[in-house]
Amino acid sequence: MRFGDITVAPGQIARAALPLINSPDGIPIDAPVIIVSGKRPGPRLWVQACIHGNEVGGTLALQRLVASLSPDALRGTLIAVMVLNVPAFRARSRESPIDHANLNRVFPGAPAGRFSDQMAHRIFAAAREHADAFLDLHSAGDAGRVPFYAIYHADGSAASRRARDMVECTGTPYLWASDARWLEGASFTLLTQQGIPATIVEVGGGEVTDEDLAMFERALRGTMAALDMTDERPAKQRSYTILRGSQMMQVRRGGILIPRARAGDILHEGQPLGDLVDPYGDVVETVTCPFPKGFVASMRRRGYVVHPGERVSIMLEVAGEEGARGDG
Ligand SMILES: [Zn+2]
Repeated sequence: MRFGDITVAPGQIARAALPLINSPDGIPIDAPVIIVSGKRPGPRLWVQACIHGNEVGGTLALQRLVASLSPDALRGTLIAVMVLNVPAFRARSRESPIDHANLNRVFPGAPAGRFSDQMAHRIFAAAREHADAFLDLHSAGDAGRVPFYAIYHADGSAASRRARDMVECTGTPYLWASDARWLEGASFTLLTQQGIPATIVEVGGGEVTDEDLAMFERALRGTMAALDMTDERPAKQRSYTILRGSQMMQVRRGGILIPRARAGDILHEGQPLGDLVDPYGDVVETVTCPFPKGFVASMRRRGYVVHPGERVSIMLEVAGEEGARGDG
């Protein structure tokens, strides 16, 4: 395959660069890419890490995956974007250090837009050119943890059903069938709407643990198996906990967070997620589960300092249990 100005022959592994944007010093910024071109034909899977610059677990997981893959045994091509949002990665920041935008909210981007819009525009064009399927790796960054779960855009289209099949093979029973308005500008949403099945896998945060990397590896290998890129059998769960509604758990009072639940817990309405204490140790606010049954999809760490209006967690509503539905 051709990627930028390099050609990768079947059976080869190559390092490549994805042009993102120019710098005012005149030096272009490229994302580092590894391409594993299988000996046999098959789909082209684009996997990216660090669209949020401080979510480095995905990068470490991709390093392990690439080191363990043999192009001889692979059908199709893995395009591994090791660090996508290079400016944010350099700043150890979730958002862009230049325009403070969240890169995963501004797709499909704009060629004459803000800094992040211009980057998104180029990334989106490259993904549409090179990807038959797409996987975006995330974590909670430095300020907390997310449980191991997967997300797809649930719009009933053929690409959405393929994406459902991909997430069913990731190794987690927790699937968010998203139609969230606030994810309208996310890359997985837009690509699915353009006919390219696209998913997100979320794992961990803070220190990247061996357990985190093992979960990422299951998700990566499961996704490749779902796409028939390897001889591994896709491992589906007996049933899935389907998550639908979402709520950002923003606080009214500032304070120091003392969590009372962990990422991945399932809570009932009114059950406490966490307390905010003031410097004297008095509880000034208790954040509670807003849904009849809610999944703690992220939790900031104990001792995190929160301003009014900032969030301490994302809660997802548990819609019910389902069997496999994907069309793979
Ligand atoms: Zn993220």
